[in-house]
Amino acid sequence: MQNIILIAYGHFELNSLKEIAGAITREYSSPVVIKEGYMDMDRFFDASRRQYDGNKILKEVDFVHHFEALKKIALFKVDLYIPILTYIFGQAYLNGKTGIASLYRLKNELYGMNSDENLLVERFIKEVIHELGHTFGLKHCYNPSCVMRSSTYVEDIDQKSSFLCNRCKKLLI
Ligand SMILES: [Zn+2]
Ligand SMILES: [Zn+2]
Repeated sequence: MQNIILIAYGHFELNSLKEIAGAITREYSSPVVIKEGYMDMDRFFDASRRQYDGNKILKEVDFVHHFEALKKIALFKVDLYIPILTYIFGQAYLNGKTGIASLYRLKNELYGMNSDENLLVERFIKEVIHELGHTFGLKHCYNPSCVMRSSTYVEDIDQKSSFLCNRCKKLLI
């Protein structure tokens, strides 16, 4: 069986990574391997937006070979954008191999609220499961509790679960 590779770009708590890995295995029935990645992030920084180019980063992560990987999901801590949007939580290649997700916009502190580590990990898990769903060919789902429902704001993420609905689950097979 092939692995899903979880690549941490930047420092993440090992416990959080294990929690994310557990959720991935639960939804996609694949073993997860946690790795550390290194990337010169300056190349992706847009000085005028003070953000990082999500398209270029996704392309770069996709380009790095992990032969044992069924899918790759890369975790970041920086503020990601794509040209048509103010920011993104993450993105992935539909039916591809690779997805990316960032913690940056998931933090309570960014919205003037007290930091909440548990909530942060919960949001990150949903984001990771969501982007991986795209790599497995899943599109956005209209079921309000399905993790494949699209999210523009953190409130949207908080309203859905970290689970695939039955319909999406069936589409995986
Ligand atoms: Zn999506
Ligand atoms: Zn669904």
